[in-house]
Formats: sequence, structure tokens, C-alpha cells
Amino acid sequence: MRSLAILLGACVAFVSGCSSPPPPFKHSTFAMGSTVEFTIEGIPEADARAAVDEAIEDLAYLDAALHAWHPGTLGRINSLLALGGKFTSSPLVLPLIEQTTQLSEQSGGLFNPALGELFALWGFESDDPPMGPPPSDADIARVLAGKPQMSDVRIHGIELESVNPHVKLDFGAYGQGYAADRIIERFKQRGIKNAIVNVSGDVRIIGQHEDRPWRIGIRNPRGEGVIASVLMRGDESLVTSGDYERYFLYQGKRYHHILDPRTGYPSRGVTSVTVIHPTAAVADAAATALMIAGVNDWQEVARRMGVKSVMLVDDQGRVHMNSSMAARVKFEIDPAPQVVIVDTPG
Ligand code: AMP
Ligand code: MG
Repeated sequence: MRSLAILLGACVAFVSGCSSPPPPFKHSTFAMGSTVEFTIEGIPEADARAAVDEAIEDLAYLDAALHAWHPGTLGRINSLLALGGKFTSSPLVLPLIEQTTQLSEQSGGLFNPALGELFALWGFESDDPPMGPPPSDADIARVLAGKPQMSDVRIHGIELESVNPHVKLDFGAYGQGYAADRIIERFKQRGIKNAIVNVSGDVRIIGQHEDRPWRIGIRNPRGEGVIASVLMRGDESLVTSGDYERYFLYQGKRYHHILDPRTGYPSRGVTSVTVIHPTAAVADAAATALMIAGVNDWQEVARRMGVKSVMLVDDQGRVHMNSSMAARVKFEIDPAPQVVIVDTPG
């Protein structure tokens, strides 16, 4: 979810020289470990500024509650899950546990936020990017042998317990999409009809830019700028996961932050996955799972996760997508990449 989405819609409009409507209010900040960009259009600037100020406070709150390695709400929950027995949870975390448990099951365990021990072993639960070497096979095998699953976490009212001491929750593959959804919900309550929230490449939009749809760019996973752009419709999200966000090179090999729960190693064969879906939270979980599913299995996993529009870029630079995505993608690189269109029957 830490990929960069480039907001093209506004630039296009300015080139065409619009004079009367006020320009969109834009603001960017650093939150949830990354850059967050807001664009709001069609309301007075003071109101847009107030909405953004509130969103920044909300993000700080969510970040403190959900941070996977800084001390805080999730840290306390993880310590208590490891001890066994019931304890009172922070209510804020309960809907995330519920939804990620369902998504994890739908993904066939490829999306597994209970695997925090593995992410930590690789050094990805850290403010400083890991440098390598990769962990030993023995350490990886030891962590995987604990078989932590979201279904090990039981919710009893506002109490939680884990039946497996190896569960360590890390919502890094989901939390930013979840945050983008919450911000847009709040914007709607404030009467905002046209907006973009981009939490580290997890983009959720509502409405449009003047009389045309917002156009969002998808970062080129192996180059500068954008590989393609998509016209966004009304209220939906576009989320990209990639192997270029957090990684280290060790002895000429790239080790990135999306780990295959079956092997304990970074997923292989796909450099980025983009998903369009009504909510950013589901798109975020799905983009991570589909990186791991790879070019052979992504359709089946997408179907089970209820995700309809998907684009993968493989490590040869080929683009794999279904026709609902192909109908919306415009390539922004020349020459355009080789494209494989695949649709699951039914
Ligand atoms: P994203 O950028 O959304 O794909 O999320 C990547 C982050 O999710 C990593 O930095 C880890 O914290 C976490 N993560 C890595 N592999 C998995 C996985 N298989 N399931 C769930 N979360 C994962
Ligand atoms: Mg994700």
C-alpha cells in the first residue's frame, strides 16, 4: 500500500485553463508512516482546511492505535494475545480484526496479518529499512511452525483472546486503506462531495473534478513516473502494492516486504498489483494477497475476495489484467507494455 499514486486529474484541468471555479484545496502531510495527500473541491477553502485538519488528527489517532511496533494500543493487544486468556480490547481494533479475519480466510491465508513475528524477523517492523542479510531458513521455519492465523483470535463482546501464542497482529497491509475509507466517510458527513485521499498510494476518491472524472496514475514499478492511469468513477478506490516500497538488496537479490506465508520469503514473480474496489481497505488487503498469488492464481483469489478489477505487472514487465480493468486503463509509457488479458469464466 505504500506505492505512489499520482493525481493527474487536477493537472489536466489546469492545462485547459479553467478560470472561474476555485481551484481544488490540496494539502499533503506525513502520517501512518508515509505521505498522505488530500484534495478537496467544491467547498470554501476554510471548510476544506478544517476537514483536513480533522483528518490529520484522526490519522494520528489511528496510527497510534494500530502501529505494529511502536508502543501503543496494538502493542498492548499483542502482548496480551501472546499470554493467552481473555482481556478487554480497545473497541477500535475489533472491526479491523473482524474484517481482516474474513479477508484472510477468503485469500486462502495469503493475506495473513497474524504473521507479525515473521515481518519482524525480516526486519520490516522497524523505522529503519532493513539492510539484510535475510533471516536464516531455520528461523523462518521456526516462526512458520507457530502457524499463526487470524482465526486463532477470538472475539467475545469487547474481550479478545488468542488460542495461539504465536499470533502477532500487524495491519501494515490493510491499515492505510482502512484509514483512507474512514477519512472519506468523515468528509461525506461534512458534506464534501468531491475529494481524493491518498494514504501512501492507497487512493480513495469521491465525486469528480469539475465536470470530468478524477484521473489517477499507477506508479511504474520499474521506472520513473506512472505506467498507466485510470479514470475514477464516483466513489471508489485504487490501491497498489509493490515490491519497490520496502526492500533491501543482498548479494544482488531483492528482498521486499510482502511475505508469502507458505514459504516465509518475499513473494516472487510480480512487481506490482493494482486493485480497483469500492473500499480502500478491501482493495489494500487484496493487492497484498494478489502479489503473493502471482500470475497463475490471482484470478481465483480475487474472485474469492470479491474483487473485480485487477492489474498485475510481472517481473518481465508484462501486464496481466481482467477485461473490467483493461476497459479503464490507459498506458502512459511508450511503448505500451505487453498485455495479457485473462477472465475467469463465470
Ligand atoms: P502492502 O504495501 O499493503 O502490500 O503491505 C505490506 C505490509 O504488509 C508489509 O510491510 C508487512 O507489514 C505486511 N505484510 C507482509 N506480508 C503480508 C501478508 N502475507 N499478509 C498480511 N500482511 C503482510
Ligand atoms: Mg495491502
